[in-house]
Amino acid sequence: MIRRTQFDSLLRLAGPGLDIRLDADLTPQTSMRMHTRAAVHAHATSPNGLMRLMRESRRLDSPAFLLGGGCNTLFATSRFDGIVFSLGGDFNRLEYAGGNIVRAGAGVKLGRIVTFARECGLMGLEFLTMVPGTVGGALAGNAGAGNWGLCDFVENVILTTRDGFLANVRRNQFRYGYRYSDLREAILLEAEFRLEPLDETERRRRVEEYRAKKTNQPFNEPSSGCIFKNPKDPETGQTISAGKLIDECGLKGYTIRSARISERHANFIVNNGDSCGEDFLALINLVRDIVHQKTGIELELEVQIVGGPMSSAILT
Ligand SMILES: Cc1cc2nc3c(=O)[nH]c(=O)nc-3n(C[C@H](O)[C@H](O)[C@H](O)COP(=O)(O)OP(=O)(O)OC[C@H]3O[C@@H](n4cnc5c(N)ncnc54)[C@H](O)[C@@H]3O)c2cc1C
Repeated sequence: MIRRTQFDSLLRLAGPGLDIRLDADLTPQTSMRMHTRAAVHAHATSPNGLMRLMRESRRLDSPAFLLGGGCNTLFATSRFDGIVFSLGGDFNRLEYAGGNIVRAGAGVKLGRIVTFARECGLMGLEFLTMVPGTVGGALAGNAGAGNWGLCDFVENVILTTRDGFLANVRRNQFRYGYRYSDLREAILLEAEFRLEPLDETERRRRVEEYRAKKTNQPFNEPSSGCIFKNPKDPETGQTISAGKLIDECGLKGYTIRSARISERHANFIVNNGDSCGEDFLALINLVRDIVHQKTGIELELEVQIVGGPMSSAILT
């Protein structure tokens, strides 16, 4: 927990490359639109600002969390008593680097990079059509669709370790898989993606294919995307849809106060209104218990939980 006496030293860091807000409202910063405040919200807009912040955060030894677009994150409590980092400014740069390569800062929105790649005459990232969030968050969780994840296209990533060491990591130097990448141990700053020359007909076909798959998702209601990863069938080893399992357990529409299992897609929990993290955790636990009782399958979380007993995503 961060102490009030530590606020002054953080406020002194504010200046070029770093904005600091105390008792910050994070409601608009997550796609779930859940009411959450952070003791400190530090928004770094330059590498220098980020390094100053990281040094001070280590010195204070307070809990810290790095927030991207907030589209796969659930705050478990109505207040996070630590520092929420976010990236903007220099980290929103997007450019063509020659030779079928696009370079993007970690703060770049996924929709922007998909459009930009096309404008550069490149394709490959169509599977991210209608996937919200940032390049940093998508690399940390290897976001994707079908058989593709963003990490499949990485040429190299510039990151800083939690101890503040800068590193340039190539694709064969980190591990990743289905909704997982060990890049999330670091703070990702920038990445280069190797794409392929544009075939407009094929690109359109892929976009339509991915768009069609999205029609069953509740895009008009606040959510954090899929709550659970798709599990493997213990007998056949085949991947099963977590949404289908939850639906078959009769849980579509099940509600705990402000948290409701979407009627459209049972792997989405949507915010009914005046929500708080406790309602979501209660519903997540209930779904896990019922699916386990009825099918013997343990559902693993895809969403990142910040704070509380199930916390999975704290930097320090
Ligand atoms: C309607 C909807 C549909 C969705 N559809 C899909 C889908 O089809 N496929 C899919 O994979 N996901 C989907 N998602 C989930 C979400 O869009 C992705 O997981 C996305 O990549 C999250 O990015 P973000 O920037 O919002 O991450 P956040 O939620 O902000 O963060 C997620 C994790 O990444 C870490 N992180 C963020 N930035 C960095 C960084 N710079 N360096 C290191 N770690 C970082 C955070 O600390 C956290 O642990 C959907 C979400 C919604 C709301």
